[in-house]
Amino acid sequence: MAARKHSRQRDSIKEFLMTRKDHPTADIIYTNVRQRNPNISLGTVYRNLTLLAKAGEISRLNMGDGVDRFDADISPHYHLLCEKCGSVVDLELEDFSSVLEKAAAHFDGHVAGHVTYFYGTCRRCTKSVPPDMSETSDT
Ligand code: ZN
Ligand code: MN
Repeated sequence: MAARKHSRQRDSIKEFLMTRKDHPTADIIYTNVRQRNPNISLGTVYRNLTLLAKAGEISRLNMGDGVDRFDADISPHYHLLCEKCGSVVDLELEDFSSVLEKAAAHFDGHVAGHVTYFYGTCRRCTKSVPPDMSETSDT
């Protein structure tokens, strides 16, 4: 009974994440999953996200700003953090695997993976600020 409840909670967390392309934080996932699972706690959501990430069913993103984000898309791809609005968007690069191969060629040992993120300004933020205003106003 308890195990079924736990896996149901985990399923609903993963199902919600699969509907989102914007790499939500645990807080955002909690706020949304709670609407259909009123008894779920933030701790439970966080624990299940950690379990899912360790099992390789989702990926956990560290974009250097101290907030973990989550992605149901586990295919190899990079991400870009918009420094203006904080959004994280997918970035496809064709030579993803060659980065590992190049690293391995320069390292006397085993290279297991790499973490890279890009930062800049997303398309919406680039369009919303006139070029001559970009340095002055942040609000
Ligand atoms: Zn932006
Ligand atoms: Mn992604």
